[in-house]
Amino acid sequence: MKKSPVVINDDVTFVKELISEGQGWNISELRKYFDGDAVGKIIRTPVSVIGIEDKLSWPLKPDGKYTIKTGYHATRKEQHLDNNNSPSTSDDFKDLWRDIWKLRIRTFLWRDSHNILPVFQNLYNKKISNTPICPICLQEPESTEHALLLCPWTRAAWFGA
Ligand SMILES: [Zn+2]
Repeated sequence: MKKSPVVINDDVTFVKELISEGQGWNISELRKYFDGDAVGKIIRTPVSVIGIEDKLSWPLKPDGKYTIKTGYHATRKEQHLDNNNSPSTSDDFKDLWRDIWKLRIRTFLWRDSHNILPVFQNLYNKKISNTPICPICLQEPESTEHALLLCPWTRAAWFGA
């Protein structure tokens, strides 16, 4: 009969009872309770043989203390590995900021589509202003797009051109 991979024997309560202090897994003890396959899997989990107490440690900081920053970087790296199967670079963070920026623009455009920004075109449509023309460049109607992106004065302020 195949032995159960789960310890149900009353003799074993703690994993440490299957470990010989200073030597690692006690294989003859493991064989009493597990089949060969399970023993193989168990002994692939390394155990400390120097007898210091276990503690929680974050592997990405030398002091082992978790920080949100390193957690964030690890998550980004993991996502990147999932997507491209290549190491993370600083370009990832540029991409991230670009994505955030796109999201902001999209939010603006959503608001634009609902005509809720008080640009002159909207004020004119609502008969609050008597002209839709941009009061800064005096060249075109001031739509949200014009105010945020197209007005030469906005472009100069944002992009220096
Ligand atoms: Zn303008």
